[in-house]
Amino acid sequence: MYIDIKTIAVGTWKVNCYLVALGNEGWIIDPGDEAENIIHFLNLDNYKLKGIINTHGHFDHVGAVSEIKEKYNIPFFIHSKDKRLISHGNLYRGFSGDSSIKKTPIIDDYLDTFPFIKIKDKKIMIHHTPGHTPGSVCYEIDGNLITGDLFFKDKIGRTDLPGSNTKLILTSIKYIFENFRGFLIRPGHGESFLLNESIIDEIMFKKDGFNN
Ligand SMILES: [Zn+2]
Ligand SMILES: [Zn+2]
Repeated sequence: MYIDIKTIAVGTWKVNCYLVALGNEGWIIDPGDEAENIIHFLNLDNYKLKGIINTHGHFDHVGAVSEIKEKYNIPFFIHSKDKRLISHGNLYRGFSGDSSIKKTPIIDDYLDTFPFIKIKDKKIMIHHTPGHTPGSVCYEIDGNLITGDLFFKDKIGRTDLPGSNTKLILTSIKYIFENFRGFLIRPGHGESFLLNESIIDEIMFKKDGFNN
């Protein structure tokens, strides 16, 4: 059986919501907005959903967590260091100019204490990669790396946001570049890409001019 990863981009910031599936089992990653569209487009009713796991706690990545969690009665996991971001979601949503209020999701467990989660007999490895936020993580499975807002095809992630740290994000990116060459990177926004030398050069070349 092969891992199947489906994507839908949702909300104002076109956050990539992923469904990682193996046979009929699935985990949902970063359901940022548009719960109904996620449910229909990713065919969630057809899966035995294990839970929702987030790459980080920014409001635009968690907007549909509560609705999906309650509909399917599944747990929500995130790194404990992004707990504050989750509790302040509506405040940050307001700062961004979006006056809508979303239900703050209940966190069922923290990712810090387990190195992986299971999907049937396979492991989704969890890598703590702080910098964009303190609790940012990447998820690794079968040559895929779901990276959240750590870096994109042509730039590194923003570090001008609450909880960001430039030194930490560079350390985390270095760790990914050293260990995951040849992986298919599935970022929090924009298209997927293969992590090869030219991409690494492009990102490192631009790293002094980020926050764009
Ligand atoms: Zn973010
Ligand atoms: Zn984002």
